Amino acid sequence: MSDSLHLVCPHCQAINRVPAARLDEAPNCGKCHKPLFTAHPVELTVLSFAIHIGRNDIPVLVDFWAPWCGPCKAMAPQFVQAAGMLEPRVRLAKVDTEAEQALGAQYGIRSIPTLVLFKGGREVARQAGAMGAQDIARWVTAQL
Ligand SMILES: [Zn+2]
Repeated sequence: MSDSLHLVCPHCQAINRVPAARLDEAPNCGKCHKPLFTAHPVELTVLSFAIHIGRNDIPVLVDFWAPWCGPCKAMAPQFVQAAGMLEPRVRLAKVDTEAEQALGAQYGIRSIPTLVLFKGGREVARQAGAMGAQDIARWVTAQL
C-alpha cells in the first residue's frame, strides 16, 4: 500500500492526496475546505460516479436505489448509519437509478436496492436486497 491516498471530495469532486496515516484525522478538502468525510453517503450522477469510482483509492460502496422503491427507502437510514461505521476506510455513495438510468443499465442492476462494492474502479462484490446497518458494515468488511 502506498503512503498517500487519493480521495475524491464529496462536495466539489476535487481529487485530494491524503497521507494514509492521517486518514483518521478528519481530513478537509484542499480545494473547498469542507470535510472529506461527513458520515453521510454522497449522491452520484453519471459524471461524479466516474470520478468517485475511478479516482478514489479507498473502496466505494454504492447503493443503487429508486424513489418508488419501498425497501430502498426503508434501507436509506441504515445506509447512512453504515457510512458512520465504515468511513474513512470506505466511501459510501448512492445512485438514483430512476434519475441515472444509464448507470443502472451499465451495471446490470435488475433489482433494487442493490449494493455494489468497487475497488480500484472495478466491481468486487454485489448484494441485492435491503440490509440493516450492522449487516452492511459486516458484509463490506468481509470483502476487504
Ligand atoms: Zn472539496
